[in-house]
Amino acid sequence: MSSYDIIIVGAGPAGATLGYELGRRGLAVLILEKEKLPRGKPCAGGITFRAANLLDFDISAVTEGIAYGARIMYQLSDECIKRHKEPLIYMVMRSKFDHFLVQKAQEAGAAVIDGVRADQLEITASRVKVVTPEGPFTAEILAGADGAKGMVAKKLGLMRDVELDLGLEAEVSVTEDKLSDWDSLIGLDLGQIPGGYGWVFPKKDHLSVGVEGPVHLSKRFKPYLERLLQHLGNYQVTDFKGHLMPMRRRGMAIQRGNVLLLGDAAGLIHPLSGEGIYYAIKSAQLAAPVIASALRSGTINLKDYQEAVDTQLMPSLELGRVLLKLFTRSPRSYFDLVKRSDLIWWHACRVLVGARPVCA
Ligand SMILES: Cc1cc2nc3c(=O)[nH]c(=O)nc-3n(C[C@H](O)[C@H](O)[C@H](O)COP(=O)(O)OP(=O)(O)OC[C@H]3O[C@@H](n4cnc5c(N)ncnc54)[C@H](O)[C@@H]3O)c2cc1C
Repeated sequence: MSSYDIIIVGAGPAGATLGYELGRRGLAVLILEKEKLPRGKPCAGGITFRAANLLDFDISAVTEGIAYGARIMYQLSDECIKRHKEPLIYMVMRSKFDHFLVQKAQEAGAAVIDGVRADQLEITASRVKVVTPEGPFTAEILAGADGAKGMVAKKLGLMRDVELDLGLEAEVSVTEDKLSDWDSLIGLDLGQIPGGYGWVFPKKDHLSVGVEGPVHLSKRFKPYLERLLQHLGNYQVTDFKGHLMPMRRRGMAIQRGNVLLLGDAAGLIHPLSGEGIYYAIKSAQLAAPVIASALRSGTINLKDYQEAVDTQLMPSLELGRVLLKLFTRSPRSYFDLVKRSDLIWWHACRVLVGARPVCA
């Protein structure tokens, strides 16, 4: 079959979730993924509890551990450890987690073709055609879940001026002793890159270590990552990659005609924390009912999707931008405040577990 109700370009958390949501609504769904699955993705691999709680299935089969707290450092010297009585973040390897979501989409009825890149789009008012090396596929609706700098946004001329952060990440083998230092804790280091931070996210048998911040400061990232790695003691880097992180502003178009954008393709990353998986999943869940009702009614109007993103997701992302400005101005005060008072930590925990709707 080469004709579908909807084609989704990209099988990351956004594309897989949309495939799952629409597959179980009985629609004919095709997910096209350019990589062979399972595929890796540069990522700390932190799935906040609020993100996991969006899913109506259990993800423990693909989790590597659970964080109950954080070691927060200032320029790798001063530090404090903050703990919470409840679990905060699941640790995952993205290759396994993302593939698990794709399998859920397949079980729900979505067709998945991996190792095939969407190269060209032909879009008319009633139909979209996606041209690939395996031939063309057509559908009534197209979803761009193809990540940062995705081809769908580019072909439509959307997200051109989106602000970009960069994340640089290494998978690192360390001794058992060093690994146990991070048992149930993530690490955050502040104050070395304006508007950015370093992080350590422990996995079952290694550490994911990285830095992120504004893309124009990217020259400073590698030396900083090396300092961070040296701080961890004896280590061996097994993998080392960078990836862009786009951040939308309210009003930027993420829908046009019979096409819409999800997740990173729509710039839905939290400016302060860099969390994107929650927004990838949530944007797919906001898009699904709009798409299903458009197909049912025969009138393709996807405007309600952008409206839903603006009202339900943008307040949290906009607050993140304000907090980022304060944090960039004075990371030392931010650190001192977190160190001395439990109030900010308590609020952050409420956000991570989803008890507060707006992300701080
Ligand atoms: C270093 C780093 C660390 C991060 N850590 C975290 C974290 O700990 N927690 C968190 O919540 N977020 C984190 N993020 C953000 C998170 O990784 C993203 O927000 C998330 O991956 C977005 O999911 P997505 O499905 O929108 O896009 P992606 O996961 O990027 O998936 C897009 C998919 O589209 C495919 N694709 C692209 N072009 C085409 C094409 N032409 N044809 C077919 N397929 C195509 C790609 O191969 C890819 O599989 C991090 C990001 C970075 C860079």
